[in-house]
Amino acid sequence: MSGPVEALAYVAAADRYATMRYQRCGRSGLKLPAIALGLWQNFGGSDLFENGRAMARRAFDLGITHFDLANNYGPPYGSAEETFGRILAKDLAPYRDELVISSKAGYDMWAGPYGDRGSRKYLVASLDQSLKRMGLAYVDIFYHHRPDPETPLEETMGALDFIVRSGRALYVGLSNYQPEQTRQAAAILRSLGTPCLIHQPSYSLFNRWVEDGLLDTVQQEGIGCIVFSPLFQGLLTDKYLGGIPQDSRAGRSQANTLQGKFSEAKVELARRLDQVAQGRGQKLSQMALSWVLRQPAVTSALIGASRVGQIEDAVGALAARPFTDEELAAIEGILRG
Ligand code: NDP
Repeated sequence: MSGPVEALAYVAAADRYATMRYQRCGRSGLKLPAIALGLWQNFGGSDLFENGRAMARRAFDLGITHFDLANNYGPPYGSAEETFGRILAKDLAPYRDELVISSKAGYDMWAGPYGDRGSRKYLVASLDQSLKRMGLAYVDIFYHHRPDPETPLEETMGALDFIVRSGRALYVGLSNYQPEQTRQAAAILRSLGTPCLIHQPSYSLFNRWVEDGLLDTVQQEGIGCIVFSPLFQGLLTDKYLGGIPQDSRAGRSQANTLQGKFSEAKVELARRLDQVAQGRGQKLSQMALSWVLRQPAVTSALIGASRVGQIEDAVGALAARPFTDEELAAIEGILRG
């Protein structure tokens, strides 16, 4: 017998398209929401299903049409896709044509020589597994998750082309590729007739490598850009300004992916950035999102969340006015010490 929550079928908010901004992804016909939700953390097998479900529903109600996954998100590997499959089955499946769902392969996934890197063997098998876990006929975007120096780029790009032609994905993307690798990969994909839709690099106030060529490259190539960890995994929020809460990514004893990235010096910078944010009438997390989204090359900011309120905060960032030159100079001054 189903409980009271089960009995009430989810109906998406009627006003879900009222406030979200949708931006063209490079030169393609596809538009993406300026804020997208990633399921790397907090949607795994050991996380509370109802919390993940509530976040996905709230996100969609706020116009977040894009959900980003990968084969190995969890833990354990694969479990975030399973969780998302359950959320689809319970709530979001009737809205499948309103959703852009992505997955990836490229990192370690299963034992042996065919569960990692960039071979055609790995990518096709991995996507078949992902589709099964999510209960989908196709994903909207399939990424090669990181460059693989051991596999010829022609093989990896050929696999992406095959994946589209075989109906497993509608578009393909690259993640963590350097500018020159991106150019080469995009040229191969173009020659095969499957243009590269999108690049997924890291980018935030604390991690600006893409400003050194990649943002120019994607613009020149007509490729969209969705930037991951725009909050530097939480350091660019007010969460750590007064210490490390136990219930935070840095405070968790297991699978702390902030290890080695967290420092008191960064928290001090965050405190100073927070002053600028307050002057703009924004939370620090919101200013961090406005700041990456100010780049014309950036299509979407790909956030993570551990609770519904964080998603609401992120969408709230879109209401802010543009930065003044003085604010941008103040931010540069803080970051450059
Ligand atoms: P963020 O930088 O957005 O960090 C998200 C975390 O910050 C949350 O889980 C939460 O952590 C904290 N947070 C978020 N909002 C707030 C707020 N308003 N106030 C206080 N704390 C807040 O992104 P992620 O690092 O999670 O990455 C986002 C997505 O990017 C991933 O899910 C994945 O889809 C993608 N990604 C891709 C990679 C790639 O190689 N292609 C690599 C990494 C990520 P807390 O638990 O402490 O509350």
